[in-house]
Amino acid sequence: MKVSNLDELIKFRRYLHQNPELSRNEKNTHKKIYDFISRFNPDKIITNIGGYGLAAVYNGRISGPALAFRADIDALPIHEDSHLAHASKIENVSHKCGHDGHTAILAGLATVLHENRPKRGRVVLIFQPAEETLDGARKFVNDPKFNEIKPDYVFGLHNWRSEKENLVMLKSGRMSPAVTTMLVDLKGTSAHASRPESGICPYNSAVKIVAKAYELQNNRDMHSGDFSMTTLVHFVLGKNPGYGISPDDAHIAITLRAYKDSVLKKLTDQIENYITEVAKKEKLSNQNISYTDETIACTNNEKCCQIIEKAARENKLDVQYMETPMKGGEDVGYIINSSRQGGAYFHLGSGPDQSDLHEPDYDFPDRLIEPGIGIYNSIVNQILNSTDHQI
Ligand SMILES: [Zn+2]
Ligand SMILES: [Zn+2]
Repeated sequence: MKVSNLDELIKFRRYLHQNPELSRNEKNTHKKIYDFISRFNPDKIITNIGGYGLAAVYNGRISGPALAFRADIDALPIHEDSHLAHASKIENVSHKCGHDGHTAILAGLATVLHENRPKRGRVVLIFQPAEETLDGARKFVNDPKFNEIKPDYVFGLHNWRSEKENLVMLKSGRMSPAVTTMLVDLKGTSAHASRPESGICPYNSAVKIVAKAYELQNNRDMHSGDFSMTTLVHFVLGKNPGYGISPDDAHIAITLRAYKDSVLKKLTDQIENYITEVAKKEKLSNQNISYTDETIACTNNEKCCQIIEKAARENKLDVQYMETPMKGGEDVGYIINSSRQGGAYFHLGSGPDQSDLHEPDYDFPDRLIEPGIGIYNSIVNQILNSTDHQI
């Protein structure tokens, strides 16, 4: 589809790129989205949902399903390495995941809906903060304001490097894993380095715990529903510099992922039990376990994938079904899970020459804005405007 105000959307995207804000700090981004969307007269805009989230609602003339589209809006703590005219103005903060582009696509859908309201039901545009810290979607759906916009169906996209530009990459069922990072603090007793036997250095315990966490990862075959994966991401022993001292503390962080929330729960329980067992055996004085960067899995509804496929074909875009799900965590699962019927999250290909996500020279390709809006608009037409109701 041709988008009449594409230049304006590109300008908006580049403004966001120049003025990025970190997860949970998207105050100006929130205001700019509000200002932009307001000009296209939604029936309602709900602000400050789960932090700096917002939602714009376009009602149809008669009742029908509530259809939500989700864009993430936050940037990353990465210094931008580019000579772009619209490069980030903020030191060590930049849009290196293309959330500025996702926001522009959703803002573009608002401009289309302004002229073509849905026939029935309603469209809810969800601008979600704090995706990179994996807590934004959870806070968004737990905010009481979410009850007002609780959708029947949810769709979302992420730009993704691909063999071919504008390729729509889809996956029915498992799409992204449940993830958590387990932080383990172990405390023993320090001693002079010449008499380590008189203290309890937690090194042995730490090494055993890491080995056990790797041993317990269930099944690295990504085709399997029982897939789980362990990655050691941090390991520190003692204070630095600690010459002459046999240390009394160790700190480990282990990221765990699985496609089933139940498999991840089982893995974390097993590691927790093992930590208690080892700490007792090694006579540690204390051990503490906490979690960070957690999200549930994202599972795509088959019917919703078929709707995306049809939308892609209507826009003359190629479709490829992904053989394996993503390995990285993505918190859109909270929003999809909170809908009444489910939804689907897909990738929109940025081509083979695009820098990878989170690389210092990455910039969202503006050429994806128009096809992104086109796909979303076709989904609206299929679910809310078609006479032979698709769902
Ligand atoms: Zn990212
Ligand atoms: Zn992202």
